Amino acid sequence: QPPVVLSGVSRRYGDGPTATLALDDVTTSCPAGSLTAVMGPSGSGKSTLLHVAAGLDRVDAGSVTLAGVDLSGLDETSLTRVRREHASFVFQAYNLMPALTVRQNVSLPLLLAGREIDRNQVSEVLDRVGLAALAGRRPAELSGGQQQRVAIARAVLTRPAVVFADEPTGALDTQTAAAVLELLRDQVRTLGQTVLMVTHDPVAATYADRLLYLVDGRVAAETGRADAATIA
Ligand code: ADP
Ligand code: ADP
Repeated sequence: QPPVVLSGVSRRYGDGPTATLALDDVTTSCPAGSLTAVMGPSGSGKSTLLHVAAGLDRVDAGSVTLAGVDLSGLDETSLTRVRREHASFVFQAYNLMPALTVRQNVSLPLLLAGREIDRNQVSEVLDRVGLAALAGRRPAELSGGQQQRVAIARAVLTRPAVVFADEPTGALDTQTAAAVLELLRDQVRTLGQTVLMVTHDPVAATYADRLLYLVDGRVAAETGRADAATIA
């Protein structure tokens, strides 16, 4: 079973005539070891899709399965456990802890999960994202691109089945964006992780295996890699 499955998913905000149907009967799935780019105009439901797929937001109809677990009817505690075990997140705002060093920030998910921190494993990930020399710095001492790489190192450290990324290259210059996308693609290729990424960046789509194009909360197009650049 694919690690991310949405089946007939709808998500409505508000009630009555002013209600917004942010997702309208969306059915799609992300195969294991694939990088999917979610694109579409502003307000088309990209963020909502990412949030419901990750179990961060509820659905009004349909079902979401994450890493083989049907999220329907799970309470917050169970949802949190499923997310912690199988997923990680890269958000635009980085969500780094200002008081912690790069190494400590990257280790945080292990700490929160009550798992032992393997210094070599952390060093290896920092090395992969080119931050080995900056391990002792704090976020405020880093550039935007470096901060984003800390967020990605943290997201991939525990090798979760699925990485959810919301505009991971939004604040980055072209070169840094390319490095971040290569890193994500590398995770998919070498570890078989599954990445679901919301992006406005047409260049980012060229790194994807799949492109999901939303319009008005519906899947307007779904393509493999060959067509992704054409639609973007
Ligand atoms: P995108 O990420 O493609 O810009 P969103 O998923 O953020 O789209 O939003 C889809 C639609 O749902 C938009 O019309 C947006 O205004 C609406 N929406 C999103 N979140 C909320 C919310 N929490 N409350 C009310 N409306 C929302
Ligand atoms: P993005 O550009 O990533 O779609 P937005 O700025 O649209 O982000 O939304 C940021 C947050 O605000 C999201 O969590 C979304 O659910 C919420 N949101 C979006 N539109 C609305 C809205 N009309 N009313 C309330 N919350 C909204």
